[in-house]
Amino acid sequence: MSQRLTIAIDGPAGAGKSTTARKVAEHLGYVYIDTGAMYRAVTLAALQRDTTFEDVALGELAESLDIRLEPTTDGQRVLVNGEDVTRAIREAAVTSNVSQVSVFPRVRRALVQRQRMLGLHGGVVMDGRDIGSVVFPHAEIKVFLVADVDERVRRRVIDADQRGEHLDVETVRRHIIERDKLDSEREVSPLIKPEGAVEIDTTHCTIDDQVQRILELVDGYQKTYSLVSAFTNI
Ligand code: C5P
Repeated sequence: MSQRLTIAIDGPAGAGKSTTARKVAEHLGYVYIDTGAMYRAVTLAALQRDTTFEDVALGELAESLDIRLEPTTDGQRVLVNGEDVTRAIREAAVTSNVSQVSVFPRVRRALVQRQRMLGLHGGVVMDGRDIGSVVFPHAEIKVFLVADVDERVRRRVIDADQRGEHLDVETVRRHIIERDKLDSEREVSPLIKPEGAVEIDTTHCTIDDQVQRILELVDGYQKTYSLVSAFTNI
């Protein structure tokens, strides 16, 4: 019988993590957890309540919110204290503040604790910035997705177009570069390629290629695991 694994997918903004992670989860019958949505949910609440951007205030806010991620046929619904914030957490104000909120240790502690609970029994695909390095350093499969910045900008603009939102290319580029810099240079849990992660450059890949590569890693792991189990009788 195959093991229900923990699959950690990390990488910079716009590398295709969420679509890839969702499809991998769908294929395997696993749960998909978008940890970026959790940081966005805290940021939205902080902006709505005018919370000062400092560790204690934001940490207490993160601890107090009931954040739920519910799978839907075309993605996921995000609920905060029962309110549907799926669209609101993608708005520009949240996107441009989320990396400032996610630097605070107490915010991270609150969310990492919940992420670990959600992934406790395996059978999860989790994407973010610190999944393979901090949240699940012992995940069986770790992937680091990267892509050229031009390609990441192009994808963001096309995604927004499809939602009927027109974005300025240069503004998107500036925001992506700023967000990556903040995420990579923060003191606590910076964005890094986790030890043992397989790097996949998605610049010239389709989503299906990316999904296929990860499914091959899973398959390889399951085969090795069943061989080892057969030999050691576990
Ligand atoms: O994945 P997404 O782009 O929606 O993430 C939004 C932001 O949330 C990131 O830029 C980062 O600041 C923060 N984040 C994080 N750790 C994670 C996931 C997201 O710091 N595991």
